Amino acid sequence: MVARAARATDLTDLDGAVGDCFACPRLVAWREEVARVKRAAFRDQDYWGRPVPGLGPPDARIAILGLAPAAHGGNRTGRIFTGDRSGDVLFAALHRAGLANQPTSVAADDGLTLRETRIFSAVRCAPPDNKPTPAERDTCAPWAHREVELIRPTLRVVVALGAFAWAAWWPVLRQVYGQRPPTPRPVFGHGAHWSGESVPALLGCYHVSQQNTFTGRLTPAMLDDVFTRAKQLSGVD
Ligand code: SF4
Repeated sequence: MVARAARATDLTDLDGAVGDCFACPRLVAWREEVARVKRAAFRDQDYWGRPVPGLGPPDARIAILGLAPAAHGGNRTGRIFTGDRSGDVLFAALHRAGLANQPTSVAADDGLTLRETRIFSAVRCAPPDNKPTPAERDTCAPWAHREVELIRPTLRVVVALGAFAWAAWWPVLRQVYGQRPPTPRPVFGHGAHWSGESVPALLGCYHVSQQNTFTGRLTPAMLDDVFTRAKQLSGVD
């Protein structure tokens, strides 16, 4: 799997290859179980039930790094942050920021396109309780590392959605940019900002989970602030 990720010649190749990954037995079993049992509201739909690739143009200047696909969102529709409440909040914010052509993301064929932005997750299969194990995180890392390598020429800013994604960035720094991560590691927080020499800036943002958005811990205004900052730092109009 590591070798296949490293061999990917472009994002299309990477996206196709990740869809055939079976490296994590627990996650493979879970994604397929969810796809078979389904949620009642989606009983008449065919679930994707596979790893979920990234979304967005290959010359993106902004990357949004998430945790993992949602069981009945990306794992159902086959597109990241698509078909669940987290995606509703995220894409509405990206549309307000001028980074998405529409404020909704309901299905893989709904016409959504992104501008200057690539979204992908640290772990590509839906995990039980949204909690991958450390071993699963490490097993999946080569996919994200190759994804960053492929967009490295234009990438200027990474928005980490939540502490898991924030922590996943430091191995990327080492593997892709050949830089030793800072010690001690900068602490994650909403609005946290770290920048190094000749590497993308890192911005922290609370995850767009229902737990955060329903409770008001993360508001639309807070997301707007993060994406305004990301555009400033990356030089996106
Ligand atoms: S989580 Fe990543 S490494 Fe594990 S099976 Fe899914 S795509 Fe493969």
